[in-house]
Amino acid sequence: MIVVMKPGASPQQLDHIVKLVREMGLKDHVIVGTERTVVAVIGDDRFKDKSRLESVEGVDKVVPILAPYKMASVEMKKERTSVKLGAAGAIGGMKVGVIAGPCSVEDRVKLLEVAHAVKEAGAIAIRGGAFKPRTSPYAFQGLAEEGLKYLAEAREKTGLAIVTEVMSIEQIPACVEYADVLQIGARNMQNFNLLSRVGETTKPVLLKRGMSATLEEFLLAAEYIMARGNTNVILCERGIRTFEDYVRNTLPLAIVPELHRRSHLPVVVDPSHGTGKSYLVADMCKAAVACGADGLIIEVHGDPEHAMTDGAQSLTPKQFSEMMKSIKRIAAAVDREA
Ligand code: PEP
Ligand code: MN
Repeated sequence: MIVVMKPGASPQQLDHIVKLVREMGLKDHVIVGTERTVVAVIGDDRFKDKSRLESVEGVDKVVPILAPYKMASVEMKKERTSVKLGAAGAIGGMKVGVIAGPCSVEDRVKLLEVAHAVKEAGAIAIRGGAFKPRTSPYAFQGLAEEGLKYLAEAREKTGLAIVTEVMSIEQIPACVEYADVLQIGARNMQNFNLLSRVGETTKPVLLKRGMSATLEEFLLAAEYIMARGNTNVILCERGIRTFEDYVRNTLPLAIVPELHRRSHLPVVVDPSHGTGKSYLVADMCKAAVACGADGLIIEVHGDPEHAMTDGAQSLTPKQFSEMMKSIKRIAAAVDREA
C-alpha cells in the first residue's frame, strides 16, 4: 500500500507512520515530493488493517495496491481454473457448461423427466434444491434427504452431475454424500462458518453472489472456501437488489469480465434469479455467453405454472432446448463452444 501524507505533515508525523509500518512487520520507503511525502509500504500487506494507518494524524489517505484476496486472485495463479463436475464435464474451459433443472426438487417422476430433457438439450449438470431458503417459514422448505435421493437417481439415469444447495453446516454430510457440487446460496454468501466448512470438503462449490454484496466481498467469500484447502470454486452472478422493479433482481453482467480480470476462478451466470421472468432468460443467457461467462445455471420445470417455487422464472424444457441452440451461435462468435 501507499500512505499519502497531507501537505504540510510534520517530520514527527512521518516518523510515527514509519514506526507503525515497521511494527506491522513491513518495510517502508519514504519518497519526499515537492508537495507531498508518500510512504511506499513494502511486503505482503494485504491482510494488514489499513484503517490503522488511515486515521493517524498527518495522513491523507492509504491506497491499497494488492487485492485483499489472495488464493482467488490472478496474481496468485495465472492460468484459468477449470472445475470438474463429476464425470459429466467442466466449468471453465473452451465449452460453456450449462447446469439446468427445477428450482426445488418436488417429485421423483417430474425430476427424472426434466433431467432427461435437459440432458438431451446439452446440459452437463442438473440443479435442484432439496433444502430451500424461503423468505416465509410457512412456504415449501424442500424435500431434504428424499430430494437428494431423487437427484442421485437422476444422475444414475442420465449421467448429469448434481448441483444442490447446502444451507447449514448440519446439511453438509448429506449433501456431500449425494451431490457433485455444493451450492452456497445468495443468502449465505457471508455465512463465514458455512464457507469455511465447505472449504474443508473436497466437493466443488458453486458460490452465489449475495444480493447486496460487492465484487470484493464476493471474492473474499470465495477466499474463505479456498483458504481451507478447497480451490474448486465456481463464482455465480445471480443478480443484485437495486431500485429497479421491473425485474426480480438486476443482472450486472459487467461483473463477468471484471471477475475474469481479477480472478482465475470460473464464472457462471444465473439469468433465472437474475431477472425473475422466464421471457427474459434466453436473451440474458445469450448476453452472458457474449461477455465471457464460463457457464449458465438455469431453472427448468416441466410445468412452470404449477411449480412449487420460482415458476415465473422457469423455462419449459422446450424453451430450454431452444435457448441452448441459440447460445451455440453466440459462443462461436466469441471463440467458445456451447
Ligand atoms: C436457487 O438457486 O434456487 C436459489 C435459492 O438461489 P439464490 O441463492 O441465488 O437466491
Ligand atoms: Mn430458485
